[in-house]
Amino acid sequence: MTAAVHSAADPHREIRDAVRKLCANFPGEYWRKLDRAGEYPTAFVTALTESGFLSALIPEAYGGAGLGLSAAAAILEEVQATGCNGAACHAQMYVMGTVLRHGSEEQKRKYLPDVASGRLRLQAFGVTEPTSGTDTSSLKTFARREGDKYVVNGQKIWTSRAEHSDLMLLLARTTPRENVKKRTDGLSVFLVDMRKARGAGLEIRPIRTMMNHGTTEVFFDNMHVPAENLIGEEGQGFRYILSGMNAERILIAHECIGDAKWFIEKATAYAKERVVFGRPIGQNQGVQFPLARAYANMRAAELMAREAAAIYEAGGNCGPEANMAKMLAADASNEAANACIQTHGGFGFAEEYDVERKFRETRLYQVAPISTNLILSYVAEHVLGLPRSY
Ligand SMILES: Cc1cc2nc3c(=O)[nH]c(=O)nc-3n(C[C@H](O)[C@H](O)[C@H](O)COP(=O)(O)OP(=O)(O)OC[C@H]3O[C@@H](n4cnc5c(N)ncnc54)[C@H](O)[C@@H]3O)c2cc1C
Repeated sequence: MTAAVHSAADPHREIRDAVRKLCANFPGEYWRKLDRAGEYPTAFVTALTESGFLSALIPEAYGGAGLGLSAAAAILEEVQATGCNGAACHAQMYVMGTVLRHGSEEQKRKYLPDVASGRLRLQAFGVTEPTSGTDTSSLKTFARREGDKYVVNGQKIWTSRAEHSDLMLLLARTTPRENVKKRTDGLSVFLVDMRKARGAGLEIRPIRTMMNHGTTEVFFDNMHVPAENLIGEEGQGFRYILSGMNAERILIAHECIGDAKWFIEKATAYAKERVVFGRPIGQNQGVQFPLARAYANMRAAELMAREAAAIYEAGGNCGPEANMAKMLAADASNEAANACIQTHGGFGFAEEYDVERKFRETRLYQVAPISTNLILSYVAEHVLGLPRSY
């Protein structure tokens, strides 16, 4: 990739180089094999954990590296830019933020050092339900308080990595919707120890998807959660989850930028070497222009994502920038993916080029963790002041 992509002023150059070095041990062949078998990249996640990258955002007092969001973003961006896939573990970076910001000192001391060291995986985030979809406040999973525990009944869908995580951050209703003033009230967040709950009210069923994502459906049938595992105050959970969403969007935006860089680099290299009609295909403007446009759009998204991270780190309200960065970066990676597969002609569809795998992986970010339409609605309503549409 050209020097312009990696700005000389990049404060995270050393981190990026170290991530690249680690990722070089996990080449395309490694991911292809897992993709075919639908297996979890345990060796990759272990290496990322042991190197300390996954605990970048955990403060030093709890055993982490205590870095800022832009450093975590650089780590995930670089993972994607090397052709690896951080989706197997990226949630740990932002899920842990809810425990850090809203958990008690006792909870933080109990869990965060083990998450930082890799003894515990906190990678599952149970929010989405089959019937509520994007309308989170209408979720139905209910946690009823009984003495020193909560009894949970309901179902989640798309709970990624649940089979490979020890802990799950769960959003459930604790006061019926008809008994609260605001529909976002009465929801609570729990830290569920899935090691204890599996087979005792918790059932996890994998969902096969177009990419290897380890996502699942999760069923709760009178699952017991100790009351001490409630995060923060009962009924305030929606607010806690929302406060973590800007970080999530900024991190995912950087992953998409990493993907876009990988696609553009891969396509450019191929366009230079593939000769048809006696000249490299990259000499044709019909091949050049989609790549040049994808590059320009990736750079624009990159600027927005960097701005969002800077506002976040300065403690400002980065909601608009975090949302726009996520949308622009997901669009940029999608565009670059299309240009890359087109540049490769038939070979774009062959497994061994990794293009089709990355193409499938990056497509997700048009929908998750928030779909493009919902970001546009956010911008229309909260930035432009237009009437709420739903
Ligand atoms: C592979 C994968 C992994 C995931 N991992 C997790 C996870 O770990 N944890 C978790 O909690 N969730 C997870 N999700 C869920 C993800 O966040 C949701 O799929 C996403 O938020 C969209 O919700 P939905 O699928 O229910 O779509 P719906 O809400 O049913 O929406 C369907 C379509 O309608 C559009 N739409 C809906 N309402 C409106 C509106 N008012 N205006 C305009 N358009 C609208 C949406 O944009 C979307 O395109 C994952 C999803 C996938 C596919």
